[in-house]
Amino acid sequence: MGNWLEGRHALITGGGTGIGASAATHLHAAGAKVTVTGRRKEPLERISGIVGGAAVQCDVTDRDQIARAFDDARSANGPIEMLVVNAGIAESAPFHKMTRESWDRIIATNLTAPFECAQAALPDLLASENGRLVFVASVASLRGVPYAAHYAASKHGLLGLMRSLAAEYAKTNLTVNAVCPGYVDTPMTDQSVARVSEITGRSDEQSRAIITNMNASGRLADPDGIGTMIMTLCLPQSRDVNGAAITIDGGTSA
Ligand code: NDP
Repeated sequence: MGNWLEGRHALITGGGTGIGASAATHLHAAGAKVTVTGRRKEPLERISGIVGGAAVQCDVTDRDQIARAFDDARSANGPIEMLVVNAGIAESAPFHKMTRESWDRIIATNLTAPFECAQAALPDLLASENGRLVFVASVASLRGVPYAAHYAASKHGLLGLMRSLAAEYAKTNLTVNAVCPGYVDTPMTDQSVARVSEITGRSDEQSRAIITNMNASGRLADPDGIGTMIMTLCLPQSRDVNGAAITIDGGTSA
């Protein structure tokens, strides 16, 4: 692969683990300078050590922390020409037991934070010859999810944000897209497995099989497949891909 992203700066929220870490690795492999952000220091430093990038601690539910973190990232690596909005959380509850606190937590992290992050990087993204904004959405952006109404609502909203920005900036050099994975082999899915075991009393293996079979393929998606797609969307050659919601779900939403 050519160094198509040579010298250009990519910032990945939630870049210390799972899909974000994979995106960081693939963007680095294509030549990008990488900044990873998240709340925990250790995973960020592990990935920034691998990709030789910057690690900046930041809670994306706090607008001031985002502003400070993005400034630190610019000081380390220059203007943010590619922004991967990946940080997210999942919880589950039957709707009649879903608390307002849980709803607010999910919406703040999965929907309001992407608004804040996109706005904070916008001047850089628009100044770039090839500005790229990629949201990590979900199959839950495209269909309802029993016991996760808040998560599905947040991820549906994320696609509305993505499509609106893609349309609003269509005449600029910025593209705005989303990837929509099915269940992926990451720490978030490990947590989902643990929740199923806790609620149903099933073994870890049985609970993992239940989650895995929610993908039509009957296997978990590989985080590297998601990272590769994110990197591809960031390439200069992808400039005409705008407003796309790309499913990577083994056929679940076919
Ligand atoms: P991970 O739990 O590994 O990644 C989530 C990342 O987000 C972590 O690195 C976490 O870091 C960060 N994060 C969470 N909350 C915050 C916060 N308030 N501020 C800053 N960073 C935060 O799981 P995945 O890699 O699977 O998840 C990445 C994205 O992919 C999420 O948006 C998720 O919804 C989406 N997704 C995942 C699927 C799956 O099956 N795993 C399927 C479809 C979509 P830290 O805790 O240190 O802050």
